[in-house]
Amino acid sequence: AKGNGKNQVVLFDDSQQERVNRRFVVENELRDAIERDEMRLFFQPIVNDQQVVVGMEGLIRWQHPARGLVPPNEFIPIAEQGGLILAIGRWVLDRACEMLVEWKSDHERQRWTLSVNVSARQFNEPNFIEYLRSLLRRFDFPPERLCIELTETALLNSIDGDLQDKIAALKKQGVKLALDDFGTGYSSLSYLKRLPLNKLKIDQSFVRTLLNDRKDQGITAAVLSMATFLDLEVVAEGVETIEQFNYLRSLGCGAFQGYLFGRPAPIDTFLSNQISCA
Ligand code: C2E
Ligand code: CA
Ligand code: CA
Ligand code: CA
Repeated sequence: AKGNGKNQVVLFDDSQQERVNRRFVVENELRDAIERDEMRLFFQPIVNDQQVVVGMEGLIRWQHPARGLVPPNEFIPIAEQGGLILAIGRWVLDRACEMLVEWKSDHERQRWTLSVNVSARQFNEPNFIEYLRSLLRRFDFPPERLCIELTETALLNSIDGDLQDKIAALKKQGVKLALDDFGTGYSSLSYLKRLPLNKLKIDQSFVRTLLNDRKDQGITAAVLSMATFLDLEVVAEGVETIEQFNYLRSLGCGAFQGYLFGRPAPIDTFLSNQISCA
């Protein structure tokens, strides 16, 4: 490891240089990606305890002309650092709202809630609330059908008073709020008491090992019982097997997301999957 001679040091420098280069390339390409219409919003179903679709989460991909479909983990962090996340985040919210408008007259779809991920950087923009307000005004649909997913990091990085005000303003607009990846960050339980959240999303790392890990069972059961007292809806993420689904349901979980019910897919695929299920 460290202090192992010159080679190690040189190797480290190389890979770091490479990383910087790649970041630079990706960042430059990202800058034009929206104008070139290379961003795609995929959708993954969220179901209730009867496995009926109640909503979906929008998940971004980058349809790169040479590299194919690039997953968000490969460009969202870069976009966050360079500030491009603001443009990307707006594109995502625009697309989401457009779709909700399209479904306004559809009997079944007008009950679905659409969740979108909002990054810390975007949420902490001073005019995020204003932006959202004008967006909701522009598209005329019930705001409670839009759910904003924030990670604990997003909450952690905001200034305390500011955060309370922001979340209160969101609530006033009627938009739903979910705490994403719950249990993986550093936020304290006092957040759950102070902030008027609507949902918790149990991170898939707990669900993955749920059936053979007593600790995960304990944590999951505790989160679900706590949520009842706090009037929070709980969504279990990363549900891949019927056993996981049944176990979570027996603990009182009411909403589920995972490959068992559908993978993230383009909207047309998403909709035809729903039809073939009905
Ligand atoms: P996330 O918000 O926690 O999204 C859930 C991730 O779990 C998605 O990965 C989804 O494809 C994956 N997943 C869903 N069901 C299963 C399952 O049963 N098994 C397994 N192994 N995985 C499952 P994805 O689409 O690659 O997104 C990764 C992360 O990128 C998201 O995590 C989110 O933090 C971020 N992201 C995605 N779209 C956006 C976006 O529009 N804006 C922002 N700011 N971040 C986004
Ligand atoms: Ca999410
Ligand atoms: Ca998550
Ligand atoms: Ca995650």
